Amino acid sequence: MNFDLTPEQDQLRDAVRALGRRYGHSYFVEKAKSGGHTTELWEEAGRLGYLGVNVPAEYGGGGGGLTELAIVCEELAAAGCPLLLLVVSPAIAATVINRHGTEEQRKRFLPGFADGSLKVVFAITEPDAGSNFHRLGTVARRDGDDWLLSGRKCYISGVDEAQYVLVVARTEDATTGKLKPALFVVPTDAPGLTRSKLDMEIVSPENQFLLYLDDVRLPADALVGGSLDAGLPALFAGLNPERITVAAMGVGTGRYAIERATDYTATRKVWGGRSIGAHQGVAHPLAHAAVQVELARLMIHKAATLYDAGRDLEAGVAGNMAKYAAGEAAALAVDTAVQALGGAGMTTEYGVATLLGAVRAGRIAPVSREMILNFVAQHVLGQEKSY
Ligand SMILES: Cc1cc2nc3c(=O)[nH]c(=O)nc-3n(C[C@H](O)[C@H](O)[C@H](O)COP(=O)(O)OP(=O)(O)OC[C@H]3O[C@@H](n4cnc5c(N)ncnc54)[C@H](O)[C@@H]3O)c2cc1C
Repeated sequence: MNFDLTPEQDQLRDAVRALGRRYGHSYFVEKAKSGGHTTELWEEAGRLGYLGVNVPAEYGGGGGGLTELAIVCEELAAAGCPLLLLVVSPAIAATVINRHGTEEQRKRFLPGFADGSLKVVFAITEPDAGSNFHRLGTVARRDGDDWLLSGRKCYISGVDEAQYVLVVARTEDATTGKLKPALFVVPTDAPGLTRSKLDMEIVSPENQFLLYLDDVRLPADALVGGSLDAGLPALFAGLNPERITVAAMGVGTGRYAIERATDYTATRKVWGGRSIGAHQGVAHPLAHAAVQVELARLMIHKAATLYDAGRDLEAGVAGNMAKYAAGEAAALAVDTAVQALGGAGMTTEYGVATLLGAVRAGRIAPVSREMILNFVAQHVLGQEKSY
């Protein structure tokens, strides 16, 4: 068992931390409140190779794995910049295309993921399906060599910033008549694709959208993997990277909140000469949150290590557990930090309450805590499926 990062991973962590701190949470919040995007940070991270750490070197990437990408997600979040687009574009979309795209698709898309010039978001959730992906109603029909996509998607992050959206649809298997999942790379400006922005109670420069697909015409090569048999494995390929990187973002956010709070409580004095952090009523909840964050961090390390070793099934269990633990730990850490700061905790200036919405959403998306508990009950504890 090895808890140490390699010297290269350590260097990456230090470098991303330094980049994140140059921008910081006030940059993130200013962008969110002005309706802007974190374009400067994204582009700089791309130029420095941090967004493409997991893209194979032959396509211009860093040739690393999910461990490296999780480091990038955690450190930017620990600097107060939790970027959801890291989860959807380099973690989900780049992995799906790398693992299950055709060689032509790899050559076309991976260099853009490698330098961050390409953003591809991910659309699976639908209003009438929610957590039950068997009910997906977005359908892809053949029209000559082309595909026609119709359906609706909801809560899709970052569509306004992306060139493409990876859409999960269903197709009819000509031999069995059964509906099978298939993934399509859809240009965000494709005729027939429209969107409307959702009003969310989350302080973030990244927005969520409703998407409407009305006979969106796509060429044959928009189908990931070029074959209907590629759909299910391609869909599953995105799950582990999604869970592990979103967990890393949660842990980074938890670290950020605890650091803000402990800086404050170590110096704030309202009872004579001792800091409020000297009171166990203040310090213990922060210490408890720090324990939960560190436990989640260990589980992310395990999940990413298993994934990078090609042990997908075990990584699935560890990744789900990591996502659950990190979601809970991040919500606890931010809430505890707000409390420890008192009134200052609710100000924009101290930059902690600004994360309340994001960490709350982290217990719902991209997979809810209940669906993870269902997974663990069924696949780890051997219980009968309840739904
Ligand atoms: C900020 C944010 C960003 C998002 N970004 C994206 C994105 O980029 N792309 C995308 O495709 N989706 C995205 N989503 C959607 C997200 O993945 C879904 O919200 C999530 O999967 C839950 O689905 P739902 O909202 O339909 O909840 P529902 O499925 O309606 O569930 C509602 C509640 O019931 C619980 N529940 C449902 N079924 C069960 C069951 N069988 N057992 C126990 N409890 C159950 C759930 O856990 C949840 O608490 C985003 C959501 C948010 C909030």
